[in-house]
Amino acid sequence: MFVLLRHLQRVRREAALPPRSGARSLAVRHLDAGSCNACEHELTATAAPQYDLARFGIGIVASPRHADVLLVTGPVTKRMEGPLRRAYEAMPEPRLVAALGDCALGCGVLGDRAELAAPLEELLPVAIRIPGCPPSPEQIAEGLLTVVRAPLDPPAGRR
Ligand code: SF4
Repeated sequence: MFVLLRHLQRVRREAALPPRSGARSLAVRHLDAGSCNACEHELTATAAPQYDLARFGIGIVASPRHADVLLVTGPVTKRMEGPLRRAYEAMPEPRLVAALGDCALGCGVLGDRAELAAPLEELLPVAIRIPGCPPSPEQIAEGLLTVVRAPLDPPAGRR
């Protein structure tokens, strides 16, 4: 039984993996800056067997020191502005910021409240935008895969 399951898993991965050339991995640090948690539900679903983002080299890491991408959900509350900036400062270069959901994109889903600091784009340079309230696992996967599949920069001296 376990042999069969392992075989099925291998076949599924081989059939779904992107082409080897130009492929790379992506370490993602998620930061909830004040969301309603629906975006987190959809993000969690991307790790489920139906989507299994790990097979594309995308993984969630526990520390911003190990991250390539800071994935932010929520509209950035005043309490979370400091942790957000510290997480970004702790990341090694090159680093990217991804806004997951309409709140992180500053669409004002939760209104103009005194508890909110500022739109994420006014605090950090947002490179990846994943709209939706909440976005579906497919949209989240597509947003992150654009980075994995982007052409690599040529080595220094060959530009
Ligand atoms: S974008 Fe929608 S689902 Fe995501 S945190 Fe905001 S209100 Fe919640």
